[in-house]
Amino acid sequence: MAEEPADPDVVEKARKAKEAALLDFGIGQSTVASWLYSKCHHHIATTAIPTAAVIATGDGTCALLYNPYFFLELDQEGVKFVLFHEARHLMHRHLYVDEVLRSDPRFTLAAEVAINHVALLRLHRPSLPTVPGENGGPPEPVGIDPRKIHDQYKDDLRAQGLTPVTYDEFVHTDLTVYGELRRMKTLQRPRLAFCAHGGEGGALGQGVTLDDETVGEIGDAVLREVVQAALRGNRAARDEILDLADRSTDGGERITRMWGGLGLDKLRGTTPVTRRVDWWQRWLVDVLASKLEESERLIYPKKHGAILLALGHDPMLTRRGPERKKVVLVAFDTSGSMPDSVVAWLTTLVGQTDGVEAHWLSFDGVVMPFVPGERVYGGGGTDFQNVVDYAEGRLKVAGRRLETEPDAIIMVTDGYASHVTPREPDRWIWLITDGGDDWPERHHPPMACHRVTSER
Ligand SMILES: [Zn+2]
Repeated sequence: MAEEPADPDVVEKARKAKEAALLDFGIGQSTVASWLYSKCHHHIATTAIPTAAVIATGDGTCALLYNPYFFLELDQEGVKFVLFHEARHLMHRHLYVDEVLRSDPRFTLAAEVAINHVALLRLHRPSLPTVPGENGGPPEPVGIDPRKIHDQYKDDLRAQGLTPVTYDEFVHTDLTVYGELRRMKTLQRPRLAFCAHGGEGGALGQGVTLDDETVGEIGDAVLREVVQAALRGNRAARDEILDLADRSTDGGERITRMWGGLGLDKLRGTTPVTRRVDWWQRWLVDVLASKLEESERLIYPKKHGAILLALGHDPMLTRRGPERKKVVLVAFDTSGSMPDSVVAWLTTLVGQTDGVEAHWLSFDGVVMPFVPGERVYGGGGTDFQNVVDYAEGRLKVAGRRLETEPDAIIMVTDGYASHVTPREPDRWIWLITDGGDDWPERHHPPMACHRVTSER
C-alpha cells in the first residue's frame, strides 16, 4: 500500500464497490465468501497487483489485496464475480492438497473452470464479466470461460475419435473437469489478460502467497462457521455448503473425512455410504507389491496411485514388461467372522491384477478351495500349519498339491490358533480381523501383519 498508493478518490470508490459486494454475499449470495472475507483481517487497495487476490501468509494471517483501478473497470456485478472467485479459489486450495495434482497444469486449469462455472451459476450470470479492451479494443473477459474450455475439449476428443461428455457432465464435480481434461491430447492454455491463477497468461502469475498451513486453518474455520450456520437453519448456508460438498465428491478419503468431521451427515440428515480406502488397504498394496517385486516389474505406481485415489479409485498394482506370472495364495480363516467387504476387496485387488495367478483357500481345521460368495466349513479347530504345509507343497487340497511356490501368501484370520513358523516368513502377510490377535508381528522372525478395520 505504501509502495504504490493510488488516487484517494479511486481507492474510496473501489472500497465502496468491495463493501457492497461483501454485503450482498452476507445477505445470502455466498455465505462461504462472506465468512472468508470476515476472516481476512486486512483488505488492502493497492496497485502492486494488477487484479485481486486473497493471500495467506506464514504468520497465519489472510488478506485481500485488490487493485482499485481494476475494480473501477468492472461493474458492481463484476466486482462480486472477482471476489467470489478469489474466495472460492482459496477453498479449492484448501480441499485439494495433493502435490501431484497441484503440479499438473491440467489441474490448475480444471480449478479455474470449476470455480468459474460455480461463480456463474451462483451469481446468476450468463457470461464472464469484462473490462474495456486496451486501446479501444473489444471488451476482454475476466478469467477462464468454462464453456469455451468445454468446446476445446469436445473438438479435441472428436479429433481423437473419442466421445466427449456433455457440458453438465463435464462440470459435474471438480474432479470430473480434471478427469475429462486429462483425456485431451493437446491442451492449449488460454491466453488471458486478467486472471490471477490461470497460469502463464495470468496477470498476477506466481506472486500470490498461499501458505498451506494458513490456508488450512482459514479454510477449516470458514467451513465450520458455514456448517454451523446451516445447522442453525440458515438455508443459504445449507444450500451452498451441500453444493460445495457435492462438488468435492470422490475427492478422496481426506475430503470425505473432513466433511464427516464437520457434521455434514447431520446436515444432510442421512448417513451416506461412501467409498473409502482404509489404511490397511494401502498398506497391503504396498507390502504385496514389495513382495512381488522382481526387477521392478510389478509396481505400485505411487505417483499415479495418488491420482487414482484422488479420483476415488482403489489403488491397484500394475505390471511393467513381460515376466513370469506371480503366484499369490489367499487363505481365509472361516472359523471366525469374515467381513464380506474384505473378501470382495481382496478378490478385486489380487484376482484382477495383471500378471498375478491367484489361488484361493478357506480353512479352519481343514483346508479347502475357496470360492467367493460360498462359505464352506470344514470343522475342527483352526490350524494354520495346514495352510503352511499346503503353501510349502506338502499337503494336497482337493487332491492336488500346489505346484509352484507362492511369491506371497495372504492370511485373513482372527489369529487365534497355534502359532506357526513358515519356511519363508518374508512371503507371509497376515490380515487380522476385528478383535483378533496380531501375534505374527511379534513372532520370531516377525511377519508382515496389519489389522483390518471392517465397515463402520
Ligand atoms: Zn483462480
